[in-house]
Amino acid sequence: MTDDGVLICGAGPVGLTLAVELARFGVPVRIVEKAAARTDKSKAVAIWCRSLELFARAGLADRLVAAGNVVPYGSILAGTETIAELDFAELETPYPFALLIPQPETERILEEHLGTLGVEVERQTELTTFKASDAGVSATLRAANGSERQLAAAWLVGCDGAHSTVRHGLGFDFEGATQMSDWVLADLMLAGPVAEDRILIYWHADGILAIFPLGAGRFRVVADLGPARQEGRRADPTLAEVQALIDGRGLQGIVGADPNWLACFRINERKVARYGQGRVFLAGDAAHVHSPAGGQGMNTGMQDAFNLAWKLALVHAGGAGPALLDSYSIERSAVGDEVLSNATRLTDVALLRNPLAQAVRNRVAHFVLGLSQVRRRAERQLGELDIAYEASPLSVSVVSSPQGLPDAGERLPAAPAGMGARALFAVLGSAGEPAALAAEYPHLVDAETGDDPPGEGLWIVRPDGYVGLVAAPGDLPSAQDYLEAIGRGR
Ligand SMILES: Cc1cc2nc3c(=O)[nH]c(=O)nc-3n(C[C@H](O)[C@H](O)[C@H](O)COP(=O)(O)OP(=O)(O)OC[C@H]3O[C@@H](n4cnc5c(N)ncnc54)[C@H](O)[C@@H]3O)c2cc1C
Repeated sequence: MTDDGVLICGAGPVGLTLAVELARFGVPVRIVEKAAARTDKSKAVAIWCRSLELFARAGLADRLVAAGNVVPYGSILAGTETIAELDFAELETPYPFALLIPQPETERILEEHLGTLGVEVERQTELTTFKASDAGVSATLRAANGSERQLAAAWLVGCDGAHSTVRHGLGFDFEGATQMSDWVLADLMLAGPVAEDRILIYWHADGILAIFPLGAGRFRVVADLGPARQEGRRADPTLAEVQALIDGRGLQGIVGADPNWLACFRINERKVARYGQGRVFLAGDAAHVHSPAGGQGMNTGMQDAFNLAWKLALVHAGGAGPALLDSYSIERSAVGDEVLSNATRLTDVALLRNPLAQAVRNRVAHFVLGLSQVRRRAERQLGELDIAYEASPLSVSVVSSPQGLPDAGERLPAAPAGMGARALFAVLGSAGEPAALAAEYPHLVDAETGDDPPGEGLWIVRPDGYVGLVAAPGDLPSAQDYLEAIGRGR
């Protein structure tokens, strides 16, 4: 890499996603990782609809789907009572399901694909410190033998997890708290009446128990043990303790065996106030950590990476001014706030211990999730299909979108073929508008993705599939203003 490229610190799922995106957009990239090998813990097991839509642009969605377990349904139960049935199969997306796949598999697929793009993860290479200026970043990297070297880059992205060195280097607070309740996690084989195509959530009087089918008879079981009784972390559970939780929380005849991960954990809920400063950015767990309820953590981090990659690529290529990068923190920090509050709400509801409160919860949830509109909203939220950037400086509505179509900042469900193949905007319009704007702004507009608009009007769609501008048919001046603003300072 010449020193005009991007240095990524950390090759977890978020750093790998960013590296794949940057490499396919032609940005010089290096990715350093202090660990000698990929994690062997299943960790994040759910990839949701929106992440798969975005991976499809990199040609990776089918490979991920083939390696995972497609789970189109979810159930919430309390004893023998069904509180709610979730059906992702009817969501408006090519990937209407949760893909359950252990994190090491996800990382393997991403890392192998990255290799085909000519980028290798530099393992046993730890970023220890960095200095950033307006001109670039200089990082100190330490090898396994203790030797140190300097590396210059135009940008540094910390994808280095919850204990991020890059976040510490920026001096950013990781505001939030650790919840003082203990949780148990088991990754094991289950035999008996347990479905492989359904996520099961049991709200029991003693606490929650959730079962996620990983395929081929293997499952992730998560249960809460209530308020922590000691300061330090609880000892990891035995298989017998996990079996007692399965038996005790309303499941009959399900027998666990052959565990390959048994662990206790506590939930951290923390987030930075902004996702970067100057030429240094944070993405993934380095910027936000929260309850695993809803399985949104890794997905949110990957979508940080998708959001940042096309912006870095456009600025690197000289198509956009550096101000475009300011929108990254604005957009993703707002999503992070929402993900944190939703995960906290889901966890709090599950942790209720008072029998009266539990009875009210069960009745209200049964009623509310029985309403098809509310249920569909919950399904879309889990699938991350409703993420939108309405408050972003990149979202401009000159006119309202026609009824039923996305407004500026919202995801365009049916993207034209080829959109997002390059880090360029797509113009959707009639009467030669796409070709005219592509000719005038070749550094910003993709001449190959011009298409008819989804409804009346002139639309500009971002490389990540969110609507940037909605203008009246033929309103070329508004489109020109939009593109001029993005190109300013380049
Ligand atoms: C039990 C559990 C269950 C979960 N379930 C889900 C789920 O179902 N769905 C979901 O979306 N999320 C889930 N998560 C969260 C998910 O695992 C994380 O959000 C995800 O791993 C974050 O990815 P990341 O790449 O940001 O960070 P990490 O996976 O933590 O990767 C960071 C990498 O950076 C490296 N690194 C750190 N410091 C340095 C340095 N100074 N120099 C070089 N390298 C460095 C580390 O070695 C590591 O490889 C779960 C987490 C846990 C623990």
